[in-house]
Amino acid sequence: MRRANIFKLKPTKEQEKKLFELADNCSRLWNEINYKRRQSFFSGEIDWNTDEEYNKYKHLIGSATAQQIIIKNNEAWKSYFALLKRKAKGKLPKYQNVRPPRYWKDRKKGKRVLRILIRNDCYKLGGDVLRLPLGLRIKWKGRNRWKGKQGRLEIVYDDLSKSWYALQPVEVKPLHQPIGNKKAYCDLGVRVPIMAEIDGEVIGFRGNSLLADWWYWTEKIAEHQSMLKETNDKHTSKRLRKLYRKRKRRFRHAVNTIVSRFVELCYSKGVSEIVVGDLNGIRENNTKGKKANSMIHNFWSHKYLVQRIKEKAEEYGIKVIEVNESYTSSVCPRCHSRNVFKRKRLFKCLNCGLEAHRDAVGCVNIAIGHAQTSRSAGVINGAVARPLLLSAEAGTSHASA
Ligand SMILES: [Zn+2]
Repeated sequence: MRRANIFKLKPTKEQEKKLFELADNCSRLWNEINYKRRQSFFSGEIDWNTDEEYNKYKHLIGSATAQQIIIKNNEAWKSYFALLKRKAKGKLPKYQNVRPPRYWKDRKKGKRVLRILIRNDCYKLGGDVLRLPLGLRIKWKGRNRWKGKQGRLEIVYDDLSKSWYALQPVEVKPLHQPIGNKKAYCDLGVRVPIMAEIDGEVIGFRGNSLLADWWYWTEKIAEHQSMLKETNDKHTSKRLRKLYRKRKRRFRHAVNTIVSRFVELCYSKGVSEIVVGDLNGIRENNTKGKKANSMIHNFWSHKYLVQRIKEKAEEYGIKVIEVNESYTSSVCPRCHSRNVFKRKRLFKCLNCGLEAHRDAVGCVNIAIGHAQTSRSAGVINGAVARPLLLSAEAGTSHASA
């Protein structure tokens, strides 16, 4: 499996000048190749030839780096074509847009994105020095968390923090193997980001403080936006971009905490496969609450949640399957009647009388649908009425929560 180490670079003034120059040329090369490919693609047939661009840049950035950029652009186009195929076959979720590879350009600021690629055998990470081609020896800071076969190094300049970072992909082996053969069926939502049925038990992770935090920063963003508009009729500022980034990072941190606890729980219960419901059927889709909606419509947040579940599960050797058949939280898991009543956290079946915790219905229905078996009445009664709700968000609350 692939993981990445991230290091902060500490170049001297002289070194930074070189990095800027190198990155700018890398970015130009990428954009020139991509321009040619986009133009030829849109007018009928893609032109893969890059000899001209390679010869123009190999002396400026080194032939190995020029190659790496061409390879990365090839990969980007190939994955675009693969996605187009899957989309045509209806195999992609509705929310997923498919676009041809972009330019290395910050569209809002109109500036080139600064990025350098270094072939896996052209750099060496020493004690505190990163050895790069062109005799660059740059000090680095950070945690060398993943050890294994190193991949293509990516050096990027972050405009907001005015710093350079190096991303080092590493090929590592899973740390654990499943200890059992069970399945976890999980339904994703907003108030309870993960609710899962494991072996007749229903367990969820509360998202209260995650939501409160998200909303807190959303209000801060809104305040700053209206201030910008009133005082100088602007729509963006560095502070605004920092606020967006802060909200996203805190959200991701909270999601990671929940995902880690969930996957560790699965592992300890002997789960070898996690079945995740389709994102199109997100539990609270028809809630009218403003707060919940602002999160629901952020599909990236659910995409991120699934991606993190996959990555974390991989470390435990646990498989993750996304089910595409739609399931619903509006059908009684016991008698399958649609004649149900939902209010606040209560779900009540008007046909058989089942009373359940509303957020627990979805994952039980996924389990029934996927396993093609019904659950015994006893399991359904107890588990869906009283799911075990855990908090997993220590350290994510903010001062005013
Ligand atoms: Zn029923």
